[in-house]
Amino acid sequence: MMIIAGNFKTNHTRSSTLSYAKGLNQFLRDRQFGAEVYLFPPMSALAYDDFSHFSIGAQNAYPVCGGAYTGEIGLDQLNELQIKTLMIGHSERRVLLGESDQICQRKFEFFAHHGMNIFLCVGESLEVRQAQKVREFLALQLSGIDLSYARLIVAYEPIWAIGTGVSASLIEIQETHAILKDLGCSRVVYGGSVNPQNAREIMSLDGVDGVLVGGASLRLESFCEIIENGEMK
Ligand code: PEP
Repeated sequence: MMIIAGNFKTNHTRSSTLSYAKGLNQFLRDRQFGAEVYLFPPMSALAYDDFSHFSIGAQNAYPVCGGAYTGEIGLDQLNELQIKTLMIGHSERRVLLGESDQICQRKFEFFAHHGMNIFLCVGESLEVRQAQKVREFLALQLSGIDLSYARLIVAYEPIWAIGTGVSASLIEIQETHAILKDLGCSRVVYGGSVNPQNAREIMSLDGVDGVLVGGASLRLESFCEIIENGEMK
């Protein structure tokens, strides 16, 4: 079953997310898609009615139950909202907010210990790719992560393909997913300028277990088209 996730980043409000989520739930219920669908709205939109056909995840959390961590959200707050899915290490957090591999490892350890579904984002810069150091770089990002954790989904998101409108080529995606599988990752989704036009080809590649979609998930119609494209596997 394909894994298809939408990452709103800091887009949509609580009220627009709610109407989107209702529409998405209805779409999935009516069409009975055999896909595992996740939505990562902004923090302010995390509390919902219960949507039974997809899962809501948090884009970030701090590895504590609670305490003096201004501006952060911890396990107690996620539990109250029945959020069981967490994204860790998105490149925007790594690049803009200085989130290191060590912090990502701590987050992974803590939230895996508490049984959460974890999307761990990894991916190289253009410099690393041009220097042909992709395998070494990804291995470093994955060091200290228990890859046998059953609720782990690794999201391969080359930084140079995120939000640029230029996705990695099919060959680059297939080769890099093969590297990640070889390093021990069992479920690997691709992210980086996925849209309704390229989603089907990307999801049909060997070693691609789904997609993580940013910009093209913001409109419900386009996200639903991507979900339809994931049906064939
Ligand atoms: C992302 O930020 O996770 C992402 C994949 O963005 P986009 O689809 O817009 O490239």
